Parts: sequence; C-alpha cells; structure tokens
Amino acid sequence: AKEKGKNSYQFFTTEINAAAAEHLALENRLRKAIAQGEFQLYYQPIMDMESGAIVSVEALIRWVNPELGLINPDKFIPLAEETGLIIPIGEWVLQTACAQAKIWNQENTYPLRIAINLSARQFQQIDFLERILEILKKTDLLPNRLELELTESMIMDNMEASLETLNALKKMGCQISLDDFGTGYSSLAYLKRFPIDTVKIDHSFVRDISTDPDDAAITTAVTTMAHSLRRKVVAEGVETREQLEFLDNIGVNGVQGYFISYPAPAENFTRLLQERHYI
Ligand code: C2E
Ligand code: CA
Ligand code: CA
Ligand code: CA
Repeated sequence: AKEKGKNSYQFFTTEINAAAAEHLALENRLRKAIAQGEFQLYYQPIMDMESGAIVSVEALIRWVNPELGLINPDKFIPLAEETGLIIPIGEWVLQTACAQAKIWNQENTYPLRIAINLSARQFQQIDFLERILEILKKTDLLPNRLELELTESMIMDNMEASLETLNALKKMGCQISLDDFGTGYSSLAYLKRFPIDTVKIDHSFVRDISTDPDDAAITTAVTTMAHSLRRKVVAEGVETREQLEFLDNIGVNGVQGYFISYPAPAENFTRLLQERHYI
C-alpha cells in the first residue's frame, strides 16, 4: 500500500509539473503573440429592439497562433491578467477597435458605438483615464461612440476608485455597461450609486428563458428593476426567435447573439452597416 501511495504521489507531482510547464509555454507564446501581431478583433452587433437598428458593435478578441490555431479569449485572458500582459493586449484592443469605429462612423449616416471589454487590471491602472483620452484623440473618435464594458467584481473590488473613474468617463461622454449581469454579486442596489448606462444580462439566463420559469423570472425582474432605475437592458446570447420574442415582451432595449449575428471580422460588417444598417 505504501508503494502504491508513493507512486500516485509521484504521478501527481508529474502532473503538476506538466501543467506548470504548459502554463509557462503558453505564457511565452502569449508574450510573442503581442510582438508578432497574432491578435485579431471580431465584432458582434447589438440590435436596438425598438428600431431594429444596429446601435453598437462589441469587439471580441481572438488569438490566431500559427501552431495552436484560433484561441478564444476564455483560454488566454485569465493568463494575460495574471501575468500583466493584459495591459499591452488591452491597449491594442482599444486602439484597434476605436480606429475601426472611426471608419464605420465615417462611412455610415447613422452613429455607431463600439463596445470594448475591459479587464480588472486595465481598469485599475492609475493612468487609465489618460490612456482612454489619448486613444480617442489618436483615433479621432468621439467619446460618445465609446462604450466600456465592465463586470460587477471589477467595480466592487475598489468601489471608491471605481466610482471616481466611472464618473470621469461619464463626464467625458463615454457609455458604461455592466457585463455578465447575474453571475457575480448580482445586487442591483449599487446601480443607484454608479453611473452605469446599460446592464447586460448574462447569456446563462437567456439560454433557457423560454423553458425555465426561474430564468424567465430572473430576467424579467432584472429588466424591471434596471428600468425603474433608468438603466437600459441588453440581453446576451440570443440564439432563437423564441428568446427574442420573450425579451421583446418584457421590454429589453437591446439584444446580442447568434440569432442576430455571429461575431466576425470587420470586413464582414462594413457592407452590412453601409447598405442596411438594419439587420
Ligand atoms: P463577453 O464579454 O460576455 O462576450 C460575449 C461572449 O458570448 C463572446 O464570447 C461571444 O462570442 C459569445 N456569444 C455571442 N453570441 C452568443 C450566442 O448567441 N450564444 C453563445 N453561447 N455565445 C455567444 P468570446 O468572444 O469567446 O469572449 C469570451 C469572453 O472573453 C468575453 O465575454 C469577455 O469577457 C472576454 N473578452 C473578449 N474580448 C476581450 C477583450 O478584448 N478584452 C478583455 N479584457 N476581455 C475580452
Ligand atoms: Ca462583453
Ligand atoms: Ca457578457
Ligand atoms: Ca465575460
């Protein structure tokens, strides 16, 4: 029995070492990816329920590595956060997405906002506001075309500093969205204190909305409460007509998901946005 215990212990440490080695290899690849320009932005439109127009487009990062192929953000954003690499990556995202938004806004008669996901470390940088201002200036994008997506935990981590940063962003004219709503602290009470324009209901609630009465109730309650606090509501992960109809009935302001459009490179939207603007 002793022998067996020792073996499984060795097996266990080998596994840990393998995981650590893999982790380190990925970190090195991620470091190189920045230098070698292996990131791409995909874009996904957000449709206004009342008009049917695309009012905003969310930028979603992809990593295309020659050996590993296409890697989704859930696979590398946590590592980028941990290592601090999220700072240069996030900077590239802001710069690239704002430049694209400028192009779209020049080509279209209708204004279009670009929604950008922030990471905790990025939002907490001391010169975060200056970075935003500099990028807006460099890309010549109006601040009211920029929508920043944050999660509850990012705000709750340091409420005082967050409040100050968010107030400054609002004063500049930027829009603020609360991402993944329902998955974190899930308290709407603090909405009152923070200048949040839009609450994005997480797709885990939207998924079973037409079959699970609990998810339907949560989504309805969140929408009602957000509206009574004069906040807009966008539902994520809308994949079916049934979901869209339910969300329309409860009065959400915007929808985003595969039913409207898959995320895709900018070229795929340029024509759509120019010619139809309406999906
Ligand atoms: P998120 O901000 O909640 O983005 C929505 C995710 O849902 C995206 O996954 C999108 O592709 C996916 N999605 C869109 N429509 C549907 C649908 O109808 N059904 C389902 N099942 N999924 C849908 P993606 O692109 O893999 O991004 C995952 C997460 O990575 C994002 O979640 C966001 O938190 C983070 N992320 C993406 N881009 C960036 C970035 O530039 N910076 C930072 N810091 N985080 C990013
Ligand atoms: Ca988001
Ligand atoms: Ca989300
Ligand atoms: Ca997310």
